[in-house]
Amino acid sequence: MYIHKELISILCLILSIGGIIVYKFFRDFQRLNAELKKWKKKPLSARDYFFFHQFEPVVFNLNSHLKNYNSSIKKNKRQILFYEKFFDLFPDPLFIVDEINQIVELNLSATKLVGRDAKTKNINSVLRIPNLGDLIMKSNFEKKPQISTLKLVYPVETIYTVWVSGSSKFIKNKLNFIRLYDCTSEKKVQELQTEFVANVSHELKTPVSAMVGYCETLLGIGKKDDKVRTKFLKILKKESLRMSSLVSDLLSLTRIERIEHTKPEGIVNLNKLLNEIQDSYSSSFKNNKILKLIMSSKEIETIGDYNELKQVFINIIDNAIKYSDSKSPIELKVKPNQELINISIKDFGKGINESDIPMLTNRFYRVDSTRSRDLGSTGLGLSIVKHILNRHQSELSIKSKINEGSEFSFNLPIK
Ligand code: ADP
Repeated sequence: MYIHKELISILCLILSIGGIIVYKFFRDFQRLNAELKKWKKKPLSARDYFFFHQFEPVVFNLNSHLKNYNSSIKKNKRQILFYEKFFDLFPDPLFIVDEINQIVELNLSATKLVGRDAKTKNINSVLRIPNLGDLIMKSNFEKKPQISTLKLVYPVETIYTVWVSGSSKFIKNKLNFIRLYDCTSEKKVQELQTEFVANVSHELKTPVSAMVGYCETLLGIGKKDDKVRTKFLKILKKESLRMSSLVSDLLSLTRIERIEHTKPEGIVNLNKLLNEIQDSYSSSFKNNKILKLIMSSKEIETIGDYNELKQVFINIIDNAIKYSDSKSPIELKVKPNQELINISIKDFGKGINESDIPMLTNRFYRVDSTRSRDLGSTGLGLSIVKHILNRHQSELSIKSKINEGSEFSFNLPIK
């Protein structure tokens, strides 16, 4: 069979063009496929395609749909992350309850408070907070958030600021969000401040009223009577000194409380400090034996504040002198160990009841208030000692036996 040469050439040309077209077609499909796989990262463009560039409007719509879809996925992911992290790790107990107050969700802090099996239980049965039910009801009724300070009575008495959102519709249910904020320490600080102001006013009121009374007497019968005048002026001096020591103790306490968390950095030579203290007691009591210092002559240095440590020794020694009628001298012992210096101040006086010992460092606490006041005490001495030692990262330890005496001890670091 004879086949014309030109026909073969035409056929070859048609086949080559057809091959190129099929190749291009498959190539476009391959690329489209690859693009679709990574469509999250890069927007599609029909212009890059040999066959599909006429579908540009469709691709444009697809792109914008993809964009919206991606951003809504991102938003949902963010919300889930927020829910997981924020809700679960939020430091306060958080609850979600339904319309019959059954717990639907609770975070980790709430689980710690009410236990793992609290879910699906009624919140009022797992949280012993009287009035919580009323607060939830009020928030549902008024359809707005409510805040109230309520007390958890069991297992540990705690004061909470409770916030209830007011119910929100969720699918078919109504949900209420509850947050408990523990404000026990804030309330305690408020109470302590009120108590402190009341104590200071009470402490000042007594000498001030006494002074007013004595002044009136001096202006009356005291005017003519020298004896009465001298007697009352002496009492006035005593009361003014008491007020002055109260004010100076209050100032010391305020100052030391303010800097309690900054470590002192000075170097204190204990031999120098204690010899100075011993000399001052010997000269004021005209009795060399009132304070017996037991320490080696080898120089001992510690890290601290000279004046504050001096105040610690003076406050404890003053008490030992005030509250002991014993003839035995007060013993101040300094015993250096490897890293610490142990210091103890021991008297052989009347001693302190065991039940009073934990309260001694509280402000204004006195075992026998009438006697202490007569001795010119303020009830702040050991409180100041405690705060100074806290600043020196040390702690006061007290041992005492009635009619045998008391021992106050603490450690200081060796420089
Ligand atoms: P005050 O200014 O009343 O002495 P402190 O805080 O120094 O205040 O002491 C508190 C109370 O502790 C004193 O009122 C006293 O009852 C008791 N106290 C302190 N030291 C001694 C001690 N060495 N012996 C017996 N009682 C003491």
